[in-house]
Amino acid sequence: MTVRASPEGSPVAASLTFIGTCDLVAITRGRAIRSDELADHLRRGVGWVPADLAQTTFGSLAVPNPFGSLGDIRLLPVESAECRLPGVDGRPSTQLVLADIVHPDGRPWECCPRHALAEAVRDLDDRFGLRVVAAFEQEFTLRGLTPDAPFSIEAHRVAEPFGSELVETLHASGFEPETWLPEYGAGQYEITIGPADAMTAADRAILTRAIARDLAASHGMRAVFAPLVRPDAVGNGVHVHLSVWDRAGRPVTLDPETSEPSTPAQRFVAGILAHAGALVAWTAPSVVSSIRLAPGRWSSAAAFFGHMNREALVRLCPVTTLGDARTLEMANLEYRACDATANPWLVLAALIRAGIDGLQRELPAPALVEGDLDAIGPADRDRLGIVDLPRDLEAAQAALEEDAAARSWFAAQLLATHLSIRRTESRELTAMTPEERCRRYADVI
Ligand code: GLU
Ligand code: MG
Repeated sequence: MTVRASPEGSPVAASLTFIGTCDLVAITRGRAIRSDELADHLRRGVGWVPADLAQTTFGSLAVPNPFGSLGDIRLLPVESAECRLPGVDGRPSTQLVLADIVHPDGRPWECCPRHALAEAVRDLDDRFGLRVVAAFEQEFTLRGLTPDAPFSIEAHRVAEPFGSELVETLHASGFEPETWLPEYGAGQYEITIGPADAMTAADRAILTRAIARDLAASHGMRAVFAPLVRPDAVGNGVHVHLSVWDRAGRPVTLDPETSEPSTPAQRFVAGILAHAGALVAWTAPSVVSSIRLAPGRWSSAAAFFGHMNREALVRLCPVTTLGDARTLEMANLEYRACDATANPWLVLAALIRAGIDGLQRELPAPALVEGDLDAIGPADRDRLGIVDLPRDLEAAQAALEEDAAARSWFAAQLLATHLSIRRTESRELTAMTPEERCRRYADVI
């Protein structure tokens, strides 16, 4: 007999709350409690184990890792960082609440990725009186539907009711979804969420992935966020939009006099470019991530600051004055070398750390490159300071290890675990073809 679902999805109703952290391979892991006991757990959290942070994408533990079988920590739920995964026939809804990781006495755990972002946000404010507002655009492939023409109404309709449910769930969660679009790749879609302070934006990026995956599963599909479903496929990017604001809440990405990037914004971008290699090790960290970062893929083909250029590492986005005159508020920069194998808290933390370094060293304004990268010869590339991105995981990790400033961005154990996880994955996939490696990530991420 089929039990008819209640509006909550199941006669069992919505009784469980899953308290989770997003880990170094961008998987949200945790444990559930009864929802009516959440108030209590907001004070004392639930138990967690340090070595949980050393898990690879494929279910193994990184070798080596600094934690082993020792230690006890806690997941302390953050009431504001939550959403409800909708109930469907036979499946109750589940509340998902993100957590800070703390010691049993409540002190932040040094390796907590969310804490790393909180610290970066605080440093930027303390030292420069600046704040970052961010927005994530996330692309993913819906596996299990018959793909239709890129950007077409048919591709929109073939994904229904998933698309409507996704936008509605995000809206009901207060995430301010902006656009839901059929993208260029076969079965590829993109969801964009409105700008918010850095922590809120990262929380929402993590929760948005969980909602999309959950709804897809409810419809017998899989939402694949992995950077590539096949080496020759159109990449699934995560584009991070950033704007800089002062303490008084004024937008300072552009200079109000000239409408050009302001001095702080230029220094921030210069910091990102100066640490591009190390950043890529955090923002595109998997074994297959670098395949996406190649010319002609509209992802990011080199480290440069580009104007309206989809191959730039950082793109100065055009501001529409059509229907809205808030030019200064809407001005933003887009970091493009990111994918969903990266943890959104650490992505923003690393970008802010790089930005802080640019501000601290008062780095000169980077050239704003106009036009197509292909048309720029080697001499001009040098003059404009355009440099290659790391060609593979090994090169990205070497860039991170050789960058003394970047090595200090996060706790030593966090850095060591991050490097070891990806090296372990690389060893595990070593005998595979690029196709098999992409599939391996796409089956999980
Ligand atoms: N799919 C591209 C990527 O891998 C992005 C295309 C776009 O500009 O939206 O980043
Ligand atoms: Mg896109």
